[in-house]
Parts: sequence; structure tokens; C-alpha cells
Amino acid sequence: MRIVTPSGDPVRTASADEFSEPVRWQSAMKRALRDPAELCRRLQLPDSCVDAAIAAAADFPLFVPREFAAKMTPGDPHDPLLLQVLPVLRELESPQGFTADPVGDSDATLTPGLLQKYAGRALLVTTGACAVHCRYCFRRHFPYTEVPSGVAAWQEAIDALAGDESIHEVLLSGGDPLTLADATLAELAQQLAAIPHLRRIRVHSRLPIMIPQRINDQLLAWLTGTRLTPIVVIHANHPRELDRPVLESIDRLNQAGVMVLNQAVLLAGINDDVEVLAELSERLVDQRVAPYYLHQLDRVKGAAHFEVSRERGAELIRQLRTRLPGYAVPRYVEEIAGEPNKTIIA
Ligand SMILES: *Cc1c(COP(=O)(O)O)cnc(C)c1O
Ligand code: SF4
Repeated sequence: MRIVTPSGDPVRTASADEFSEPVRWQSAMKRALRDPAELCRRLQLPDSCVDAAIAAAADFPLFVPREFAAKMTPGDPHDPLLLQVLPVLRELESPQGFTADPVGDSDATLTPGLLQKYAGRALLVTTGACAVHCRYCFRRHFPYTEVPSGVAAWQEAIDALAGDESIHEVLLSGGDPLTLADATLAELAQQLAAIPHLRRIRVHSRLPIMIPQRINDQLLAWLTGTRLTPIVVIHANHPRELDRPVLESIDRLNQAGVMVLNQAVLLAGINDDVEVLAELSERLVDQRVAPYYLHQLDRVKGAAHFEVSRERGAELIRQLRTRLPGYAVPRYVEEIAGEPNKTIIA
């Protein structure tokens, strides 16, 4: 079925005056904040914030789109959006059990950039670039420089997919696949659609949250333009991420017939609270997004201060179940290297 995509009115960005001019998503990437001093100054945070951020950003630099920074509350060092992106000294601690490759990616590699851990689906790491650097990310130590990017470089992965009839779904991941140009992604989608046993294409991206104008007509054209069923998994951790421009970007995906799911990570001080998780789910389902997974934090070096215990997480899910319809309660999961699926905690 060919689905007509909505016409492409520019999505308004955040309300602060300097962001009210819609810019192309590529420009939004270019003008993203990279300087800890600038982020701390904008948010009226003390100088100690700057010194800590500079020290902690050495091996994983700060990167925050202005559209996302505009949603943070000035003067609040505990803002749940800020905490996801601000480098802090606690990242330099390395408690036991927190490692560089906590989810066993190196062992699951089929060809460079192609991972398979689960039956029927394989994951293509399309790029190392993201539209934001999340401080808790399990890929913060991933050897991205070894990842091939561009359709020619993916040929080995495409051949491997073509040669394995058991694979029905390809996940485009990264990094963030939607940092790539639509022309590149369109070519990739066509090559994948030409493999008869593939049925679905799934895109994992934080762009709809970070730079909502990324969901434009060119993107919808390749995403819905092949015989493959399109699925987009967004990543919002806190209800305040879902403001009007973001909801409008999701609406464009909805209107184009794309199935949209959300995954979140359970993060101390950000969303380890039943009110926050309930409101996140309510806003998602109101916009026809299924709350798919709530992930237990992967134990990556530098992210220990975000960890919430499994017991506390399971208790939060029990409380959510007493308040929300079943479809609005995410599956609370963790990734255990070598397991045949993500393991359900609650
Ligand atoms: C998480 C993950 C998937 C997707 O798992 P689903 O349960 O299908 O969402 C697929 N491949 C890899 C390598 C993953 O890490
Ligand atoms: S967007 Fe995703 S892959 Fe990129 S830093 Fe954030 S969590 Fe990691």
C-alpha cells in the first residue's frame, strides 16, 4: 500500500526566541552545543559545573542540540534533561563491574558493523554519529572508527543479510542512523527491499526527540517507499522531552503509517519515579506511541551514577501496573550477553 505523506510545513522548534526560526536539521546538527562552558552559561549554572564538564568530557565530548537545551530549566542543576547530557566528575569513577563492552557486542559481530544476537533480526551499525551524546550510553566506548559507513562500505553486510534466509528484520542503529543523508538511506532501503526474505525495516533513533524537523518528507519517502514494513523506535526518557514540535514529528510518522515505539533507560535522578514514568507513558500513548522497553542501565564504565537497582525498578513497574492500562506499561528488560532475547525483569 502506498501511503501519502503529509505536506512538509516546517516544524516549529523550541519557544525561546533564538530557536523560533525553523532551521534545516543539518543546520541544527551543525549549531549544536559542543562547549561545556556555553551550556553551563546558558543554563545559569556555577563555574564548578564548567570545570567538571570539561574534565569529564575528555573521552566522550559534550554534544547537545540547541532545540533540546531550550527545554531545560535555567538555574536547575538537577533538570532531568540536563542530567542526560552534562558531563560530570562521577563519570571518571570506575566501580567494579562497569566495563567498556557490557553487552557483548564484539562477540555478536557477523561482518564489520553487522550484529546478530537474536533470531530473525540483525542490527546494522550504520554510523558512529549521534544527534546527542547521552552520558549513560552503552556505546560510549564502541570502536566506531572501525564501522564502515555508506552503501559501498555496507556491501559485505548486505551480502550477509541476503545469504541468511532466517533474517526477516533489519534494525538500522548506530550511533544514530538518521544522522545520515536521506539519499544514502534511500539507497540502503532499496537494497534491503531487494532481499526477498526481509520483511521489516526498523530504525532506532533519538533524532525525532532531539531535532524533530529531521522527520521531513525526504525521510518519509524512503522509509515508507519500499515493500518493507517500517518501524521507528524513538528514545525518550522523560515526559518533558515530548513537547509540541516532538509530538508533531511523531504525528508525521503516524500519518505516514509508520509503527512508532519508544524505548527508555531507567536512570537515577531522571526517571526513577512512578509519577515521571506514568506521565511519560501517558504522553506516548496519547500520541499513538507504544512504550516498548524500559531498559535496565547497561553497566558501562562512566555511567555507574545512573544505575537504579533491579528491585527498585521492578517496584516502579508494579506501581505503574496499578495505574495504567496494560499496553502503557513498558517491558522492563536488561541485556545479558549471550542470552537469546532481552531478559524481562518485570
Ligand atoms: C536490542 C537488540 C535487538 C532488538 O531486540 P528486540 O527485542 O527485537 O527489540 C536486536 N539486535 C540487537 C543486537 C540488539 O541489541
Ligand atoms: S542517541 Fe543513542 S546511541 Fe547515541 S549517545 Fe544517545 S543513547 Fe547512545
